[in-house]
Amino acid sequence: MAPGRGVSAAAARVAQLMGERSDQTSAKHRATAYHEAGHPVVAYWLGFAIRSVTVLPGAHPLFKRLTTEGRVDCNADWVDAKTRRDAQRCLVYGVAGPIAEAMASGPTGATDTDEIESCRHGADRWGIAFPAVERQARAMLRLRWRAVKAVAEALMAEGTLTGTALRTLIKANTVRRKGDR
Ligand SMILES: [Zn+2]
Repeated sequence: MAPGRGVSAAAARVAQLMGERSDQTSAKHRATAYHEAGHPVVAYWLGFAIRSVTVLPGAHPLFKRLTTEGRVDCNADWVDAKTRRDAQRCLVYGVAGPIAEAMASGPTGATDTDEIESCRHGADRWGIAFPAVERQARAMLRLRWRAVKAVAEALMAEGTLTGTALRTLIKANTVRRKGDR
């Protein structure tokens, strides 16, 4: 190191570390936004009522023991399902968040394994094949990816979206296909 360069080199290192940290923070924020976008986009097509979605920290609505970076206020808890068909819809909704997060972040995405495990448990309880639940969620997300992206970007910009704002965004970012509701 050249004499007199110590301070600026240290400052540069601090700036680099802070930059790395903010890269990590923004990568995590982005993963959370895609996670919380995946749930309501799938919920919309499964016919669930969505009241709101946020990427601000709080308790998970389905799994109270979990504190998550974000949450969706929606009536899609498999624990309350009355029929196998209801349970299947709730489970597809449940895995849609972690799957959207993984789809957005690639194979290194920090998927919410507790949520996946809870859904796997729900599938076992109802005698539903869990891989089929995952496949269905992945297929729905792939078809609606433009809407997932739009919702995730709005969440990153605004933090919280109302059910009305969500429905508007989802509709505006959907290519209508034969058989769509
Ligand atoms: Zn989730």
